[in-house]
Amino acid sequence: MIIDTHVHLAVDDFANDLPEMLKRAQVAGVQKFIIPGVDRDSYFKMMELVRRYPDICFPAIGLHPIDVFANWQEELDFLEEQLSQHTFVAIGETGMDLYHNKEFVAEQRLAFERQINLALRYDLPLIVHSRDAFEELFAVLDKFKGKALRGVFHAFSGSIEIFRRVQKYGDFKMGIGGVVTFKNAGLANVVKNSELSDVILETDAPWLSPVPFRGQRNESAHLSYIVAKIAELKDCLREEVEETTTRTAQTLFKLEGKG
Ligand SMILES: [Zn+2]
Repeated sequence: MIIDTHVHLAVDDFANDLPEMLKRAQVAGVQKFIIPGVDRDSYFKMMELVRRYPDICFPAIGLHPIDVFANWQEELDFLEEQLSQHTFVAIGETGMDLYHNKEFVAEQRLAFERQINLALRYDLPLIVHSRDAFEELFAVLDKFKGKALRGVFHAFSGSIEIFRRVQKYGDFKMGIGGVVTFKNAGLANVVKNSELSDVILETDAPWLSPVPFRGQRNESAHLSYIVAKIAELKDCLREEVEETTTRTAQTLFKLEGKG
């Protein structure tokens, strides 16, 4: 059994064949799916999916840094209201993105900080998105030193040194997906040199398809290619990758006994 800890099932890319996509994933051994929250517009679609597939789909709630605009406080008010009424497995995705959203950097910082506070208040892990933003993120996380933060740096793209710094802020894992199969990505070396217990699996589908599907729509069934690559890098059996990453994800998102 493996878990896709980051898959955007509610996007239009899956509107026409979601049941088939989920079936293919299950045949490939993927039995649980975590859907990250992005913004208010996509929220209701996500929750509708969760109601349709309550045993396998688990929602997170967050405001994606790319979607932080002038109205970010309104968005977070809405998010807080939902948090008080429904169950979520994480806060996210949140974080900072200085690549796609250079206009609202100060707001991204504040939105990230407020979402960290929510994670602490609700005792939830964080799903952190970072694009060209590690130093900015660390500056925010510095304010929370000594707090019991936990979560994942999703689509991790840093060096092993960066990951060691991440771990100083709490119990953080690296979310590993299709990029690990890319040639010259550097990420393969990072995975090779880190503990298997620091890794959780994710597709970030419909994006970031692994080789040999690079450039095509991604889907959860492709996690098997990521498992195979990690097993090769760690020189271990695929079963060990599946068991270890699943155990880590179950603990991090408290999925044990759910589904
Ligand atoms: Zn994502």
